[in-house]
Amino acid sequence: MTRLGIDVGGTKVALRLAGAHRPPRDAAFRWPAPADPAADWAALAGEVARLRARADPPIAAVGVALPAAVDSAGRVTAWPGRPAWVGLDVGARLRALFPGAAVRWADDGDVAALAEAERAGARSAVYLGVGTGVGGGAVLDGRPVPGCEAGHLVVDRSAREERCDCGRFGCVQAAASGPAILRRATRLRGSPVPFTGLRDGLADGARWAAAALEPAWDALAAAVTGLGELLHPEIAVIGGGVAAGLPGFTEAVAERVAGYARPGYAAPPVRPAALGALSSLHGALLLAERGGGPA
Ligand SMILES: [Zn+2]
Repeated sequence: MTRLGIDVGGTKVALRLAGAHRPPRDAAFRWPAPADPAADWAALAGEVARLRARADPPIAAVGVALPAAVDSAGRVTAWPGRPAWVGLDVGARLRALFPGAAVRWADDGDVAALAEAERAGARSAVYLGVGTGVGGGAVLDGRPVPGCEAGHLVVDRSAREERCDCGRFGCVQAAASGPAILRRATRLRGSPVPFTGLRDGLADGARWAAAALEPAWDALAAAVTGLGELLHPEIAVIGGGVAAGLPGFTEAVAERVAGYARPGYAAPPVRPAALGALSSLHGALLLAERGGGPA
């Protein structure tokens, strides 16, 4: 069966065609700027058409990992990363894009958690993906816990500097998203810091680079600890492009989680995502293979 996984991100989209193809075929594109649903959809349809032309046999199942909140009818209710998508009937559009195929979609954090749990051979896991935002998910007894929005856990009641995309202060995402980290690094260094600059600064032991990352590590550790207290997962996984691109990121979170140990509570072991920045894409393919989201 030919399957297509699509990982929809805040700035780019990754696609993987798998099945009869050896090896899987990958494609990716950046969303056009500024955000406009018509232009976005045309870009997606163009990329799908190019992959479809190479799919033999035809695509039978599609899984889509979405960062947006989508209601049961398939309509986007919130996506701070691309607010113009609110109200878009993404379910109907996806079904129209893939006539004859089984199309399913789910939260990107939920499917990433599933993919990482499976890869680790764990029946339960919590996942935090650090990228343009902070996505997250949990798996219990081998199944995703729907609607587990770990990025919007409030972990800092005194936060007033960075507002989360959702409008609140104090969310994990407000402290730990890639853009939030880079804004902090820019303030601390006093000049614009791109991601590569942050990575180099960290490798060189620059104080401003570590100071820009510490609030992110603290927020992620607080989230892992809270989720650990509630769910007692076998593992906690830190993924996403920001974590994958900065050596020592996960270890710094693990160190802080260990600092929250208390008698009677064993914090979950914290591991880097085995699938690197591709957890959601693998999860989207699992969704295509097995279903589990809305059909
Ligand atoms: Zn939030």
